[in-house]
Amino acid sequence: MFIGHFALGFAAPRFAPQLPLTASFLACQFLDLIWPVLVLARLEHVSVDPHVTAFTPLAFEYPWSHSLLATALYAALGFVAVRALGLGTRSATVVLVLVLSHWLLDFLSHAPDLPLAPWGSTKLGLGLWNAPWLTLVTEVSLFALGVGWYARATTAIDKQGIWALWGLVAFFLLMYAVSAFGPKPEVGTPAAAIAGPALATWLFVAWAYWIDRHRQPRAM
Ligand SMILES: [Zn+2]
Repeated sequence: MFIGHFALGFAAPRFAPQLPLTASFLACQFLDLIWPVLVLARLEHVSVDPHVTAFTPLAFEYPWSHSLLATALYAALGFVAVRALGLGTRSATVVLVLVLSHWLLDFLSHAPDLPLAPWGSTKLGLGLWNAPWLTLVTEVSLFALGVGWYARATTAIDKQGIWALWGLVAFFLLMYAVSAFGPKPEVGTPAAAIAGPALATWLFVAWAYWIDRHRQPRAM
């Protein structure tokens, strides 16, 4: 999943109006934000195997970023961090759910490569990625729903609040189209050459920060 994760990030302020979009994006995408860092540090690995799924040829070994146990730990840490920042239990609970949601959406889409724990050989995944069109419809629908909720839950306080949001939505759709229909990495591509560009995912968190500066909850 890619924009499907951000769909939940966009939806979150509807349930926790106090929660900034920046925090919501950090939470929904936390596993994929630390993943390239762990690959570059050689703690995890990725390779290209055209037979993994129809949607992506990436074969993941990611016990520290994507095991269920590690995810539960990050979710708990997220809850504690949000409480420590002085945001309410509601915001903290939404962050906890967002971190866990990443694993669940990956569980839905990935080949059975998601470990239960960093050790052990049990790996799970329902493989929605083997049905590319169903993946596209599911993800784009989720994304539209999430963006719609965010747009209604918040209001722009100036022109930038409009441009920043809709610019990001357009950029997401463009990136998604490129990842779905663009050229795929070839067999033998080094892990660092795959993980390096994935660091750009942090750009979306920075973009969310920009949006936060120019939009506010509608109730306020
Ligand atoms: Zn992921």
